[in-house]
Amino acid sequence: MTLPYASALVTGISGQDGALLAAHLLGQGVAVTGTHRPGRAPDLWRLHGLGIDAHPRLAMAPLDPADAPACAALVEALQPDALFHLAGQSRVADSFRDPQGSVAANGLSTVNLLEAVRAHAPAAHVVLASSAEIFGSPARSPVDETTPSAPLSPYGYSKLVAHAAVGTWRASYGLAASSAILFNHESEWRDAAFVTRKISLGVARIARGEAQEIALGNLDAQRDFGYAPDYVAAMAAMAGRDGGADYVLATGHAASVRDFATTAFAAAGMALEWRGEGLHEVAVERGNGRVRVRVDPAFFRPVDAPLLVGEAAKARRELGFAPSLDLAGLARRMVQADLARLE
Ligand code: GDP
Repeated sequence: MTLPYASALVTGISGQDGALLAAHLLGQGVAVTGTHRPGRAPDLWRLHGLGIDAHPRLAMAPLDPADAPACAALVEALQPDALFHLAGQSRVADSFRDPQGSVAANGLSTVNLLEAVRAHAPAAHVVLASSAEIFGSPARSPVDETTPSAPLSPYGYSKLVAHAAVGTWRASYGLAASSAILFNHESEWRDAAFVTRKISLGVARIARGEAQEIALGNLDAQRDFGYAPDYVAAMAAMAGRDGGADYVLATGHAASVRDFATTAFAAAGMALEWRGEGLHEVAVERGNGRVRVRVDPAFFRPVDAPLLVGEAAKARRELGFAPSLDLAGLARRMVQADLARLE
């Protein structure tokens, strides 16, 4: 599908989603300006890895989205057709340690950008990276766009502030603005602080004899793990639609952290057997009996939803969203990429 717009501003272009989105947009002929933190050189490793760091249609601009005048000045200067707001504080665990920072980085920044667009580029379509964390621990699963939000983490609350702002600016000012309610979306470009990449990197190191085991937190948490490139393509499609709306992006399948670990080790030819319970649970490798996964309370969160799984029927229907990898395919891809990187 060709996109019906020519230019895009992407905040947080250095992150997994920003880099993948930029690659997708550039591939569709869109000119992209990506923002990075002022005062330091942009982190280009993902853009370089994706082969777009020197793309002729890619420009970089420093921006702190918490700085309202700076947001206004950049939007006024660029006049983008689409603005994708992906920058922010992205780790749930960190948000418990710095709730104010989370709300400022994720909530206030969104208001700054919506105001900048309202004042200076009112025809632009704003797409926010919202999050499944806005639902907390929902009473019913799977979750869709109509499920009430009740976040359990400062991160979830900060994303709800942003998410609600998108709806408010759409309703009150007629801005074209959409929220992509992103369930866990992973890839070989994921930061290693997230559980899937922590596991895929750990598996690759163990397979190469460079490490013995991985320490994890809540193994029972069930999440809906999809492949990030599918999610950014749907976000790009959102910006091509009139008006704006909220869309759940999810696979509809839940897997526990334990399931993901089992699948990732299997991708490197290691079969795990789980033994024990609670803090004493371990996974040992079949054949040699070596402990490969242990539980470490340091990785538990004060609260953690037991299950988050989404229903993306609306995105399938309206955006052509189609998850391309199942859990085994995702784990295999991530483990193979980490093995190749360590090679
Ligand atoms: P999130 O859903 O955006 O917070 O993504 P994460 O990958 O950080 O966490 C997904 C789930 O994995 C959460 O329920 C975590 O509690 C759980 N989890 C279990 N062990 C770990 C760990 O060692 N690191 C992280 N990041 N999460 C873990």
